[in-house]
Amino acid sequence: MYDVIIVGGGPAGQSAALFTSKAGKQTLVLDNGKGMTQRAYLKNHYGAEELEGNALLDVGRKQAEGFGTEFKEATVSKIEKTGESFTVETDAGESFEGRQVILATGANQALAEAIGVKTVPATEPRIKTVIDVDSEGRTNIEGIWACGTAGGVSVHTIITSGDGARVAVNLLSELNGERYVDHDMIKK
Ligand SMILES: Cc1cc2nc3c(=O)[nH]c(=O)nc-3n(C[C@H](O)[C@H](O)[C@H](O)COP(=O)(O)OP(=O)(O)OC[C@H]3O[C@@H](n4cnc5c(N)ncnc54)[C@H](O)[C@@H]3O)c2cc1C
Repeated sequence: MYDVIIVGGGPAGQSAALFTSKAGKQTLVLDNGKGMTQRAYLKNHYGAEELEGNALLDVGRKQAEGFGTEFKEATVSKIEKTGESFTVETDAGESFEGRQVILATGANQALAEAIGVKTVPATEPRIKTVIDVDSEGRTNIEGIWACGTAGGVSVHTIITSGDGARVAVNLLSELNGERYVDHDMIKK
């Protein structure tokens, strides 16, 4: 049983995974490698020299894996609530159990629509629909959250990755029953 299953391993999903796994939550990222970041060349990601989107994803994955996140290449086709948790199924017939789910599926809301997560028309250029979230990133299904492009934020890596972190912090705060802060200090 995973604490958090994240669908989508772009900047939003990876950044959320970094936070949840660093907080000690068993985290699984399921991604099918069809994101838009693979095609991006980035000159506007704060704190990073200009780089290809793939290079950003490689570093982000290593960071998240370093804190224990598991990654699997898979297309998620179904998510069903089973009691207090969710069964997440792939089109290859695998299934995984998770207590919380984060949808970070970029511009593709097919999964959300298939499982009854409410979507709305997008306001960002070239994005058709996004998931209807509250101010914390919750969807209409309790325990399913959404972030990044899927959550309706501006389509830039610095913003989608920041939104993944923001929604993860909100999820962790809800699980812990108090606001969660993750700060490391320079060791003397
Ligand atoms: C050509 C191009 C150039 C760009 N240039 C820039 C730029 O210069 N600067 C900038 O800031 N931004 C740029 N962007 C935008 C940037 O890539 C996005 O804003 C950002 O990376 C989106 O992050 P995300 O995690 O929300 O989505 P994505 O990176 O799209 O990740 C979503 C992931 O979810 C996966 N997924 C979806 N559905 C499923 C499913 N059912 N099962 C499993 N996996 C699934 C996809 O395969 C994908 O890996 C560019 C985009 C494009 C297309």
